[in-house]
Amino acid sequence: MSSDANTAVLRNCIRLPLAEDELLEVTAKAKDYAIMHGAAMRSKTAFSPDSLNFAPFVLVPSSFPRKEFEKAVALQPIINRLMHNVAHDEEFITTTLAETIKVDEFTANLFNIYRKVLAHGFTQKTSLGMLRSDLMLESGCPELSPRALRTAAGEDRGQDAGAAVGQIAGANGAAGVGTAAGTGSKEEEHREVQLSRVTKEPERRATGAQSAYCCWKQVEINTIASGFGHLGPASKTIQRFVLSELGHADKLHNMPDNNALAGLCDGMVKAWDIYAKPQAVILFIIEDVSYNICDQRFHEFYIRETYPHIKVLRRTLTEVHREGKLGQSKELLLGSQEVAVIYFRAGYEPGHYHSQADWDARYLMETSLAIKCPSIHYHLAGTKKVQQALAQPAVLERFINDPEEIKAVGKIFTGLYSLDDNEAGNASYEMALRTPERFVLKPQREGGGNNVYGVDIPDALKRMSRVERSAWILMDLIHPPLTKGYMVRPGGDMPPQIVDMVSELGIFGVVIGDAEHIVHNYQAGHMLRTKLSTANEGGVAAGLGALDSPYLIDSDDEDEQK
Ligand code: ADP
Ligand code: MG
Repeated sequence: MSSDANTAVLRNCIRLPLAEDELLEVTAKAKDYAIMHGAAMRSKTAFSPDSLNFAPFVLVPSSFPRKEFEKAVALQPIINRLMHNVAHDEEFITTTLAETIKVDEFTANLFNIYRKVLAHGFTQKTSLGMLRSDLMLESGCPELSPRALRTAAGEDRGQDAGAAVGQIAGANGAAGVGTAAGTGSKEEEHREVQLSRVTKEPERRATGAQSAYCCWKQVEINTIASGFGHLGPASKTIQRFVLSELGHADKLHNMPDNNALAGLCDGMVKAWDIYAKPQAVILFIIEDVSYNICDQRFHEFYIRETYPHIKVLRRTLTEVHREGKLGQSKELLLGSQEVAVIYFRAGYEPGHYHSQADWDARYLMETSLAIKCPSIHYHLAGTKKVQQALAQPAVLERFINDPEEIKAVGKIFTGLYSLDDNEAGNASYEMALRTPERFVLKPQREGGGNNVYGVDIPDALKRMSRVERSAWILMDLIHPPLTKGYMVRPGGDMPPQIVDMVSELGIFGVVIGDAEHIVHNYQAGHMLRTKLSTANEGGVAAGLGALDSPYLIDSDDEDEQK
């Protein structure tokens, strides 16, 4: 991903650069602080189960617009409910994934489990959703007309939106949006937003009309293994320490509270309560090697410390296959221990399933009485294909009743396009070949490193058959504003250099219920990951991203640090 010279920059929370001696001292302290507070990971290059490295982190918190942060937090329970309803809509999941499962073996394997479970009926009707909605600020956001945008463009760019919609109306097929006639309908409104985006965004970039204090768009929604429940709050702890060391304790009130760990673990315990067997355990399904160990162990330790009577077990899929069986009431038994809740921190990518035995283990768990996070239908609801389908006109109305909520959720989607082998899909394909730099191409995978970006898209698409394309979706690239700061990595430069960075915020949500009722639904903290502005992806475990946490700023104090 590249950012041009026009890219908007968010003002820093403190004046940088720091004097070199001060920077060296505070960085060395912060590294130790990170290790000693569990902001750490196992090394991939020199792995040892007996040692930890600090996780890469950004030294001072990156700025984030307060209003946008608060909007994301407030919206999370609505997103939770949306995803809960989607997960329980058999017809929607089945039709949405119909083309994808013909060519994507992994999704097909998951879907087969779903189909078998549907055929036999769900043994456990309650699901535990621990979601993370990931989002990025869009500096060219057309729905917001902030002061900075007007200033940069020398006018209110919103004025001519109607004209732009008129101009592009004939091109709506290529944009992959609906063709409903008439003004004022939901579909029309959605189309206007999409079309305005298509027309205005390149124009805005050409005139340099971007805003740093801008609105956000959803990158993806995770329904399985939503990580950083510990590392999110831990990032704040490090940066709070750093700001205090640098003499800026007066600014700490702009770093929002983050109770992600407690919120997520309490969610597991609420599910454990519903299961209502005092001896039953919580089972974490783990990878063969957990590099991101702190982000799992802290959950386990929190549960034991807060609820001393509840035991957590950790097992791989292979171990569950070896040890697991169903009891008389289909309870999941590992040896003699009954499992109340299963929390999947693995099982979201093909490499986690070494053989049919591991798939059998997933099926065994799915048919058991244990409450799963996620259950198979929740897992499928989190696929990129479902996200793309949800962003189409009028689809949200199927899942949300309140018109205001529909409007609010509709606004978080950037352009998402199907590549199915039909008219709309083929139009998206042509559009991607024409202007690949506007897009990211995504398969049905989780965990990072699977997407294709910009100029690489045409070659990737041309290598696929028409049918194979339906395993992928196309998405508008989001252009977040830059922040400038120090990224600290194990083995990295000392002192660190100031670099250009972009951030991705994740908002956690917990939702528990069955097809008829939701019994718990709440927002549960957040995490911020920051990467170099030149990197396409920013996985922290993958070595590209760094832990961060938001420093909330308001639009009218934009010039404070200048
Ligand atoms: P995964 O399931 O592999 O995490 P994501 O959809 O989250 O897949 O994409 C991985 C990363 O790619 C994101 O964390 C983000 O850094 C980048 N990315 C994804 N979609 C976009 C987008 N539309 N615009 C800009 N960057 C994106
Ligand atoms: Mg992601």
